Amino acid sequence: MCLPILKCMVLLASMVLVGALMPAVFLPGVAYSEGEDVEAAEDSGVEVDTNQGASATDGATDSDAVAAEENKMTIDGMSSAEYEALKANGEKHEFQAEVSRMMKLIINSLYTNKEIYLRELISNGSDALDKVRFLAVQDKDYLGETQDLQIKIHVDKENKVIHLTDTGIGMTKADLVRHLGTIAKSGTSDFLAAMKDGSTADTSNLIGQFGVGFYSAYLVADKVTVITKSNDDEQYIWESAAGGSFTVMKDEERAHGDINRGTKLILTLKEDQSEFLEERRLKDLVKKHSEFIGFPIELYVEKSKEKEVTDSEEDEEDAKKDEEGKDSDEPQIEEVDEAKEEDAKKKKTKKVKEVSHEWEQLNKNKPLWMRKSEDVTNEEYASFYKSLSNDWEDHLSVKHFSVEGQLEFRALLFVPRR
Ligand code: ADP
Repeated sequence: MCLPILKCMVLLASMVLVGALMPAVFLPGVAYSEGEDVEAAEDSGVEVDTNQGASATDGATDSDAVAAEENKMTIDGMSSAEYEALKANGEKHEFQAEVSRMMKLIINSLYTNKEIYLRELISNGSDALDKVRFLAVQDKDYLGETQDLQIKIHVDKENKVIHLTDTGIGMTKADLVRHLGTIAKSGTSDFLAAMKDGSTADTSNLIGQFGVGFYSAYLVADKVTVITKSNDDEQYIWESAAGGSFTVMKDEERAHGDINRGTKLILTLKEDQSEFLEERRLKDLVKKHSEFIGFPIELYVEKSKEKEVTDSEEDEEDAKKDEEGKDSDEPQIEEVDEAKEEDAKKKKTKKVKEVSHEWEQLNKNKPLWMRKSEDVTNEEYASFYKSLSNDWEDHLSVKHFSVEGQLEFRALLFVPRR
């Protein structure tokens, strides 16, 4: 959270200006804050983790997933035994003590507003995409085969898992261990600081205020699997069902499909969190918290439409009768009864429900700064401000303006309350 007003204003202005002008060129400085001041997690060597069950997605491919394969979101078939063997060869690491403590709080919290997990994970995906876009400006070959910069959400109802995939920068093995094992930056460390401070007795409140980043996945999931591929390393899997440790595996077998570049999160939902498998719920959440993300967020949706089809069995039978009639030498006398004919026609068609699947973009609205200020409501400004700044309060004031000259841009300047 950026509290000094000036800093915050400059940050927001630069983010918005950049978005309006040349989205492919610059990034706000915050996107590159690496956890240098944070000690890397200790590599505790090779150890078999036998506590964790096989992934719920093991060997499971539904028809959705088959289609998703074409979109590089495969859940490749691998038996539980094979996956266990892969894990046995993986490295088990302990979470940094603070992370463990925070995860326990998250998991055991009675916090009702668990939905924030999606906002946090989408925001991480968006940061990763920002980074890759920046690198692609410097090196035009950086994007390689994966040119589309996007976030995709795919739900596997049968296995009660959500897949969240971004084509961002991905993580190397070292990144995985450091970033998803120790406290990184911003949200999470502020959260811990506030907790230590003791001024807020209610932890649930803090979860809402700080978001707690990646770890908020554990608000809704028992187990989180991260499959990631950076241009600088091989494809790796990180997996943890909390409990103080996580496993990192080299994914030579492509247990969850080929990532190419970016990160796929597989959230194995808690029993009582099935609501997040519902298309409607996910759509509402993206609208509420992630509408202003600058990359397309797509959801794999089910479409059904009624279609009138001819009853093929009846058709065949009729055709047969016609054939027989033709063969007979006897002249065929047919009584023409219009009502009967009409009835026959009706019988020949029936309505069937045709179900198909497709990717639907959820955040299609034009950015606020590109719209006329008189068309933007205060609620829209507030929700945009909060999504950018992670502030839980509305802004104090906003200036929406455009500059035309040698350089042209449109901008939003927010003043925070505190
Ligand atoms: P924060 O986003 O506040 O830094 P998080 O706990 O959410 O903290 O994430 C920790 C770090 O893990 C991030 O800073 C980033 O380096 C890495 N990370 C998380 N999600 C992704 C992702 N989808 N792609 C690439 N890196 C990621």
